[in-house]
Amino acid sequence: MSKPKGWKDLPEGGLIKEAGNAEKYDTGAWRSDRPIWIKENCIQCMFCWVFCPDAAITVDENGERGDFDYLHCKGCGICALECPSKVKSIVMMSEAEGAKPDALEKAKAKAVKMAGEKKAVKA
Ligand code: SF4
Ligand code: SF4
Repeated sequence: MSKPKGWKDLPEGGLIKEAGNAEKYDTGAWRSDRPIWIKENCIQCMFCWVFCPDAAITVDENGERGDFDYLHCKGCGICALECPSKVKSIVMMSEAEGAKPDALEKAKAKAVKMAGEKKAVKA
């Protein structure tokens, strides 16, 4: 029978030994909520790009925001919270709802409703 391992023999955990390795991990695989981008409401402020902890907002060659990188977006919702457009350009939906073909239309309706509610609270 082999000798049981001591704590010094166990692999180290909870350490990030290699900087900039987030790209290698598909954090989108365990997402339960999905952000939906509504391009027509977007003012290209790039707040979402700045705040996203997973660099999951794509930017095109002209420096303009593109759609989400759903392989790496973990659905935290920070981008939707920080998005400053009057009618939100990012709406969070459940992963199941957000993956359906009508998700964008539903997100647009939700964004308009949220803007109306915000206005009513201010009045
Ligand atoms: S939901 Fe979170 S991880 Fe996904 S794009 Fe927005 S800020 Fe990034
Ligand atoms: S924060 Fe909102 S308005 Fe600004 S670039 Fe992102 S989606 Fe567009």
